[in-house]
Amino acid sequence: MTAPAGEIRHQGASLRTQTPHLVSSHRFVVDNYCRLTIAVDIVGLVRTPAELTEAFRQRGLKITPQRQCIFRILHETGTHPTAEAVYAAAAAEMPSISLRTVYQTLNDLAAMGEIQTLDVGTGSTRFDPNVRDHHHLVCDRCGTVRDVELDTTAIRLPPAVLDGFGVGRVDVVFRGRCSACRSAAS
Ligand SMILES: [Zn+2]
Ligand SMILES: [Zn+2]
Repeated sequence: MTAPAGEIRHQGASLRTQTPHLVSSHRFVVDNYCRLTIAVDIVGLVRTPAELTEAFRQRGLKITPQRQCIFRILHETGTHPTAEAVYAAAAAEMPSISLRTVYQTLNDLAAMGEIQTLDVGTGSTRFDPNVRDHHHLVCDRCGTVRDVELDTTAIRLPPAVLDGFGVGRVDVVFRGRCSACRSAAS
């Protein structure tokens, strides 16, 4: 059976997830012995296309159908896409969109603090639509990046180790294999 054109296009936008708006996450707490325990499931809220449109408008930037398409893709993705991945998903909907427009829009959003840029050692810069303070699980095999919330306030370095260094923020990256890669390997 042939699927309608709309569905084919939808499949082409490979960044789509079944639960738009929300990024599943878990909250961990580090105790005084630096042990991690899961405290509660949480979901991080990602900016809606309407909020991103408003942020652009407030700064006097033009809202184009191309930019709105990028806002929607960012909102619906549960991943941490590269600019190229956002471009691939956008081009599946709007073949006329250019990679340059995608880069420009993502960099504008990052400069506004509406998304975060992220380098977790997977070879290219990722864009993170979750602007809450959070950390990441990174699959060394397929490069999948997932959000985790982690209370790092109990992690303290002794003054002798800091040697006058003032810690601004702590980023924690857990590396390993995602469940899909683990089951593919077994
Ligand atoms: Zn993987
Ligand atoms: Zn993230």
